[in-house]
Formats: sequence, structure tokens, C-alpha cells
Amino acid sequence: MSEQPTDDGTARDRRADGATSAGAAPSAAEDPRGAPTEGATAPPATADDAPQPAAHGWRPGRFMVITAHPDDAEFGPAATAAAWIDQGSVGWLVCCTSGDQGGEDADQDPLELAATREREQHAAAAIVGYEGVTFLHQPDGALENTLALRELLVREIRTFRPDAVLATDPEVIFYTDRGVNHTDHRAAGMAAVDAVYPAARNPMAFPWLTRAGLAKHVVKRLYLFWSNQPTARVDVTATIDRKIAALRAHESQLRDPQRIETWIRGWAADEGKAIGAEAAEALRVIVIEDDESEGPAAPEVESAEGAADAASGTVEIFDEAAASPAGSAAGDE
Ligand SMILES: [Zn+2]
Repeated sequence: MSEQPTDDGTARDRRADGATSAGAAPSAAEDPRGAPTEGATAPPATADDAPQPAAHGWRPGRFMVITAHPDDAEFGPAATAAAWIDQGSVGWLVCCTSGDQGGEDADQDPLELAATREREQHAAAAIVGYEGVTFLHQPDGALENTLALRELLVREIRTFRPDAVLATDPEVIFYTDRGVNHTDHRAAGMAAVDAVYPAARNPMAFPWLTRAGLAKHVVKRLYLFWSNQPTARVDVTATIDRKIAALRAHESQLRDPQRIETWIRGWAADEGKAIGAEAAEALRVIVIEDDESEGPAAPEVESAEGAADAASGTVEIFDEAAASPAGSAAGDE
């Protein structure tokens, strides 16, 4: 496994000159499934002349985070999820795999490891405040964007009925020139995008689900994390501590939790600078359906004052009443 580039401070130095990330991509050393590329921990960087993401104020009433592995949601948009939940949103987490390859001992029982990681993910999700977690029990290291996986995701989406889905950016193969994105992350991200559009909203896609009572559902927005092209920053000053605490719940994956905390706080601080916040997470936002309730100027605000307004919950949110709970989620663990 590659040594962490932050040992000599180079990763933090790269971050200091305007690099952006959507949460911290898991490192090769901390996420052993990751490619052991030298320097693979470095988050994506953007050119100095790239447009700076503005503080993001829109908040989904209901959101679903779809990941490949246990711990992806915590290395990713956990502080955003916690901030939204604190402001009244309801969140649900879907893990496509249970991380059964997340170790370095070929003699280790993968099912035992999966059980450990599911317990860790449940503990982390409780800290963030998700309403629940679904494990789809797909094979770690062999995840593929198949019709079968999309059906499982459509079932989750039509059951929970989120306004927004958060997933890994499937377009990222390399974190600029600093590392390789895990194949499972790409597959989970692409399957999530394909499940959101068009399948979840088309009653003729997986019609047996529709006939069984899982009506079509329109997801308004995608939030892609670990993106090389983020377009929004969420002020997470109030929730960065919860992200750290949730990350620490993944004990089997963290060899040096203190070092992870230092990186996470440093990256969040760098992201926060552009919007005048102490901490922020960067995301690539895809608007699939306009939300008329938010008005012309609500979703992005350019000033730190606007970010403060957003953090205090004064922005419009998507119509929560239209997204009523759909009862117990299929596959709920
Ligand atoms: Zn992962």
C-alpha cells in the first residue's frame, strides 16, 4: 500500500492553492480496495482560473445517498447530510456492497468482514442522522452497473422518494493526475444516475415494481461527490465534527484516525474559504427538474451572508409535503 503523501505535507500544500474536492476521496491506504497508486490520497484539483463554486443554499426535503462501500458516505458528503438533517431534511443511505474486500488478509472471512462493516456503517449513519440504511449486498470489488443493480436502486428510490440523490461522480476515472477512482465508485455512481433518470420516473421501466405499488418517482437533483468539477459548496461549519465522529465509527478501516481527522478538517477549511465559511463540502449539482418554489435567486448565493442565511434555514426547500414517507423501505437492514 502506498505511503500517504500527506506525510511530507505535499497533499495539504496542493490543497492550499485553490484545489477543490467533494469531500475527501478515500485513500488507497485507508480504503484498501483503492488502487495502490502512489499519491492516491490527493483529492482532485482544479485550475486556478476555474469558476469558484458559490455557497449552496437549496436543501432537499428528502435525500438519498447511494454509495459503493460502507465509509464512502462518511469520506464523502457526511457533513452536508448532517447539516441538511439538522435543518429538517430526512436522509436515507444505500450501500451497494458491504465492503467485504476491505482488508489486506486473504485468509480473512469476507462475510465476517462484511458483517463488521455493516455494523460500523449503521453506527456512522446514526451519528449523521440518517433515517435508515439499506445494504444491497453486491460483491465488493466487482460492482457493475447492470440492469439488476438499477432495479434494486429504482426500488429504493421509488420507496423512499427522495428529492435529491447524492452519488459518486461516475465521470471521474482519475482524480485529475493524483490517483485512480475505484471501479466500484464509478459503477455505483453510474448506476445511481441511470436509476434516477430515466428508470425511476418511467412507470414502464420495471413495470412489475409499478404494479406492485412502487409508483414512478421524479428526483429533482443529483449531487455528485468526489467530482473533478464541483459546482456548489455547502457550508458545513456546524457539522464537520459529526463527519469526523461518523468516520471514526469505521474502526476496521482506519489505521490512523487522527491523521484522517487532520486531513478532513484541512480540506473542509480550504473549501470553506471561498464562501467565507470555516468548513465546506464541494459537490457537482445536476438540476433535472426546476424547483419553482425556490424562486430565481435562491439556489446559489455568492456571499458569506447568503451562506449564513442558508445555514440558518431561511432558504426555500423543496416541497416536503409532496414527498411523503413511503412506508418501510424494501431491503431495509
Ligand atoms: Zn469506497
